[in-house]
Amino acid sequence: MKILVINAGSSSLKYQLIDMTDESVLAKGNAERIGIEDSILKHLPTGREKVEIPAPMKTHTEAMKLVIKTLINPEYGVIKDMDEIAAVGHRVLHGGAKIFQSVVVDDDVKKVIKENFDLGPLHNPANLMGIEACQDVMPNTPMVAVFDTAFHQTMPEEAYMYALPYEAYEKYSIRRYGFHGTSHRYISKRIAKLLGKSPESIKIITCHLGNGSSVAAINGGKCVDTSMGLTPLEGLPMGTRCGSIDPAIIPFLMEKEDMTPEEMNVYMNKKSGVLGISGLSSDFRDLEKAAIKGDKKATLALDMFCYSVKKYIGAYAAAMDGVDYIIFTAGIGENTPSVREKVCANLDYMGVKIDKKKNNQIPGKLGKEGCISANDSKVGIYVVPTNEELMIARDTVEILGL
Ligand code: ADP
Repeated sequence: MKILVINAGSSSLKYQLIDMTDESVLAKGNAERIGIEDSILKHLPTGREKVEIPAPMKTHTEAMKLVIKTLINPEYGVIKDMDEIAAVGHRVLHGGAKIFQSVVVDDDVKKVIKENFDLGPLHNPANLMGIEACQDVMPNTPMVAVFDTAFHQTMPEEAYMYALPYEAYEKYSIRRYGFHGTSHRYISKRIAKLLGKSPESIKIITCHLGNGSSVAAINGGKCVDTSMGLTPLEGLPMGTRCGSIDPAIIPFLMEKEDMTPEEMNVYMNKKSGVLGISGLSSDFRDLEKAAIKGDKKATLALDMFCYSVKKYIGAYAAAMDGVDYIIFTAGIGENTPSVREKVCANLDYMGVKIDKKKNNQIPGKLGKEGCISANDSKVGIYVVPTNEELMIARDTVEILGL
């Protein structure tokens, strides 16, 4: 059975077709520059050459039509007929407080996605466009929506409330929601499987470190706290996002620099983080290279990032009365041993001891996944590659009972 996974952005539509009999990816790709000139579909059938198809795509529906046409193309397609696609799973950013698990797409679900446009202004409208494009092109195929916020809905009130006047919560639903939930959930299930334990029996801290980064505390399979908040801006300093800062800085800078709320948003979301500190790049590979050459600001940016992850680990161990496993995932978590080493340094008092040799061999000799803690470490430290698309596909099968 084949499941199509869709991640729609405002001008892009990423897809993966997964064969659920062995969970292999048959093809993946991205329709880029939708609604602007020079739109192009980049399609990669597994084990074959990448195909680039320049074609006008004015809307997400046109993009979706081209995706299907490409998937059934006799030359570089991977299926014969659209009917081979049993169902579609959609990634959706914000489900607010109403969605706590993946759901079958119907009018009520679309209404919830719309209700949360304010909270996810860049993603929710695009996600809905992706859903409607699929409904146009494949009206008889069942669809499931998988929300980034859903997994975090188990957080207790004390973790999700902000200490603002209570009306802010009542009037505008201002609270912590958290993001990357599909990734944190995938990791929590994968580590339990890897260890041969039930998710209910372990306390874990998952560090999703990528362009956007977040940490989650997961006790007995349930999220009890996470670093991102009302929006994905809170928490760790990220590629271009500032993460948590003293909120007083915002009116201060807006006044001094004569910035509008929108300009301030761009400043904090696109110009800050490790890019803002280093003045060099948001990409950790560039920062590492520069730091090795002695660039002080690149070194500072990396140090700030690692220090922040370490502080969340300390905080979440306190929140859960201990931690059994710390897991690193996503672009940086999976590929950057130096970050993992710095994060875990001097946590011996907590029973966290990294094995430098093992750490340096993932990715590498030890593969992409595995244990990097020392034999005498009380807390197990692991690297586990995330796979949000697979989680979405699995949810789609489960929810629809396929
Ligand atoms: P996104 O949030 O866009 O999904 P990723 O999880 O792909 O982000 O992470 C991107 C980050 O991972 C970049 O800062 C990049 O430097 C870092 N990274 C380090 N090594 C690699 C690698 N081998 N492949 C991809 N990303 C890497």
